[in-house]
Amino acid sequence: MNNPSKPFSRRSFLAGASTLGALYASSKFASIPALAETLADDPRIAKQPIADKGFASIRKIGDGLYATIADRSKGLQARCNGGFLIGRDAAVMVEGFQTTTGAAFQLETLRTVTQLPVRAAINTHWHFDHTLGNSVYGGAAIPIWAHADVPARMSAVYPKWQGEELSTFLAPWEKRAAEAKTDTQREHAKSDIEGLTGMFKPVSETVLALPNHALDPAKMPIKVDLGGLTVVIDSYIGHTDTDLIFRVPEQNVVYTGDLLTGGQYPVNINGYPTRWRATLANFATFDKNTLFVPGHGQLMGQEGVAEMRSCFDDIAEQAEKSYKAGVPVEEAVERYVVPDRYKNYRQFSWGFTIGRTIEQLYAEWSGKPVHILNYS
Ligand SMILES: [Zn+2]
Repeated sequence: MNNPSKPFSRRSFLAGASTLGALYASSKFASIPALAETLADDPRIAKQPIADKGFASIRKIGDGLYATIADRSKGLQARCNGGFLIGRDAAVMVEGFQTTTGAAFQLETLRTVTQLPVRAAINTHWHFDHTLGNSVYGGAAIPIWAHADVPARMSAVYPKWQGEELSTFLAPWEKRAAEAKTDTQREHAKSDIEGLTGMFKPVSETVLALPNHALDPAKMPIKVDLGGLTVVIDSYIGHTDTDLIFRVPEQNVVYTGDLLTGGQYPVNINGYPTRWRATLANFATFDKNTLFVPGHGQLMGQEGVAEMRSCFDDIAEQAEKSYKAGVPVEEAVERYVVPDRYKNYRQFSWGFTIGRTIEQLYAEWSGKPVHILNYS
């Protein structure tokens, strides 16, 4: 088995990639600063991190508030952002990351700041890159909280992958690439294979630790009092049907999970684009000084929400033109043109970002059922 900290070497990947592949690669490996330029003078945010492992750094972003910001150019041990919140009596942590290394880094760093009990480690949603490090928390007797449906979603997909060979799993996707009618279609199909491999491998190498404390969305928002610091947990639909956000209203800080991401196309593998856009419209009504800790990308303010909304708008506008012109959905997916302003956006893969979004919008417009938990 490969070393999980080095899923593939940059050189071998680039050597086998076409021009389009190289474009994906260059945006994938570009290092990003931990915060957006617009926040350079935000007094809430510490200039220096309290810990930095390369693959992620952790910095203070408020009174008792810390953000873990992943840098995928230096490794995928964290892959997603997270953080921790500390009151007078207790702390909570955000995210389980992609590996136990990422989760251990966050827990160890928390312990350099406080010895207070950790009431919970909370997963923002069920995806592998937010949950695979959970066993570290389990081992430290920290309860793992999540939306009530997270264990079922994880159980429906990941154990199946763990019992399967990568080649079997990828077979239908390899077939699509082989049967592609155009070069772009083939490149896009290959990007899907790459994205799928990047999910399958970490899942197959990890002992799953499911959340053991269910948060009922019907009872939200839930207030958690950490002693002088109140965290409001709320449920939204969008990136998945298990998305949670954590708000600290007194400080205008929000941890959003993947409902908000920066520098990349929205990953819509299990998403609900229309409700997701409504959720982002809701974020836009939050205070203008809100500091967002997104699921991926830099710390951002409201301009980050606006940018993600306009990216969604662009996909929807291009799709709608195709739809109204009677263009079949498979062709509409291929016809989408990445505007210059998103040229540097990372794409998890073409199919799981742009493709699934257009497919789902088409299905909604034509009143067809949409399959969400679908990896083939
Ligand atoms: Zn996700």
